[in-house]
Amino acid sequence: MKPRPFQFLDVPRRLPKELPANVRVLGWQEIYGGFDAAGAAEQGARCLDCGNPYCEWKCPVHNPIPDWLALVREGRLFEAAELAHSTNPLPEVCGRVCPQDRLCEGDCTLNTGFEAVTIGSIEKYIVDEAFRQGWRPDLSAVRATGRRVAVVGAGPAGLACADRLVRAGIEAHVFDRHAQVGGLLTYGIPAFKLEKSVMDIRRAVLEGMGVRFHLGTEVDAALGGELLRDFDALFLGTGATTPVDAGLPGQALPGVLSALPFLVANARRQRGERHADDPAIELAGRRVLVLGGGDTAMDCVRSALRLGAAQVTCAYRRGEADMPGSRREVKNARDEGVRFLFHRQPLAIEGAGQATGVRLVETRAAAGRGGAIETVPGSEQVEGADVVILSFGFRASPAPWWGEHGIALDGAGRVRTDGTSGATSHPKAFAGGDNVRGADLVVTAVHDGREAAHAIARKLGPGNRVG
Ligand SMILES: Cc1cc2nc3c(=O)[nH]c(=O)nc-3n(C[C@H](O)[C@H](O)[C@H](O)COP(=O)(O)OP(=O)(O)OC[C@H]3O[C@@H](n4cnc5c(N)ncnc54)[C@H](O)[C@@H]3O)c2cc1C
Ligand code: SF4
Repeated sequence: MKPRPFQFLDVPRRLPKELPANVRVLGWQEIYGGFDAAGAAEQGARCLDCGNPYCEWKCPVHNPIPDWLALVREGRLFEAAELAHSTNPLPEVCGRVCPQDRLCEGDCTLNTGFEAVTIGSIEKYIVDEAFRQGWRPDLSAVRATGRRVAVVGAGPAGLACADRLVRAGIEAHVFDRHAQVGGLLTYGIPAFKLEKSVMDIRRAVLEGMGVRFHLGTEVDAALGGELLRDFDALFLGTGATTPVDAGLPGQALPGVLSALPFLVANARRQRGERHADDPAIELAGRRVLVLGGGDTAMDCVRSALRLGAAQVTCAYRRGEADMPGSRREVKNARDEGVRFLFHRQPLAIEGAGQATGVRLVETRAAAGRGGAIETVPGSEQVEGADVVILSFGFRASPAPWWGEHGIALDGAGRVRTDGTSGATSHPKAFAGGDNVRGADLVVTAVHDGREAAHAIARKLGPGNRVG
């Protein structure tokens, strides 16, 4: 397709086809379809090719977005895939789950009256289609260095690190307690945002590049010590999945679930995996009340609908504009039938022997106290529910053995690093993703894994060992 300087004047922003809300809730398939070559080229041609591309700067991994949009416009798919991978080891994942409205698309120049280029959907198209046509990363020029690095965690941080290590000729051995790769991409983010076949393909691609996975393996103090001793370096990409405990009276009652175990149990069930600790998630015909307003809460409400709940309500202690997650996900939840109660703070779970509801109190802005809120006296009420899901966010999940090996933490339990390369206080250990930042985003975890791998490769250069 020939470039047309002002295509955005004639061609409006279009997303790939979206399943209607009443169809979506009947299953778990991704709600957005994909572009075909013509659709991707047409939308990509809306790019102004700005001299100073704000989208690229806003993207945490600094994807060369205008350049791969141009390649798509010219039908040079494999080159676009190569370029997309030059900055991002998991572009098809980021294209699906990044909050583009806050990142690349939020800073697109066309937002000044013409709506942003559909960057995420084109990124997804490039990689899905290139893989479908048989393209694979070309490592034929890579020379083995004889170095070996252990990666703990097969989430986006660990996978990104492993990808860059093997590209540098370093053996990457990835250990994870789960049976599948992906971390929260597989056992957190539901399939209607990221179908699990995407991770199966990525696993096969990484294995084809030489990454070795050791799944179903808990890295405890003994194994952690062995990895530090036997490998040239260690990367910790272990995430941050300890739930914030609101300490609500009644939260131990049957019928009260914590968000992540609920989502993990659902993900395992869909993959035919069983785990003794998984909670019961039979929600058919039940009234479900989710407490919290972030992306995880949206994943819970939308999963509850698909599990057949009769009514799904989300209660959040502030207003809609204050919700911390993606606007797109709130809209999707509302379209699918979720009911929202804003300015409601939970006080206690009600019930004797079984949860029957949540005592809520109304909140309002506290006069003269910045963004603080206060409760409204006399506004308590009980919202009935058969199942209550707690989704108040996550904090760090440090393993006791890190301290034993001199890997220092900050006051919040996050791994302390140098802030750029992921180097920790242990000379052989690097870290990145949620275990360093606290609960954050897929793309920032990818960034950290990539940067740590580069730093490890520099340190393990000819003749060097880390430490
Ligand atoms: C429900 C939910 C929805 C989300 N949705 C989005 C979204 O739409 N977009 C977005 O950008 N971000 C989203 N996030 C955030 C995003 O998933 C995380 O920021 C990202 O996955 C962090 O990557 P990570 O590699 O640091 O950790 P994780 O993805 O948590 O992976 C860590 C891995 O380490 C393994 N591990 C830990 N300790 C050990 C050990 N001792 N032995 C063996 N294995 C171990 C774990 O099993 C896990 O597989 C969401 C988070 C949640 C919880
Ligand atoms: S990685 Fe995320 S922020 Fe960067 S271009 Fe892709 S969708 Fe946008």
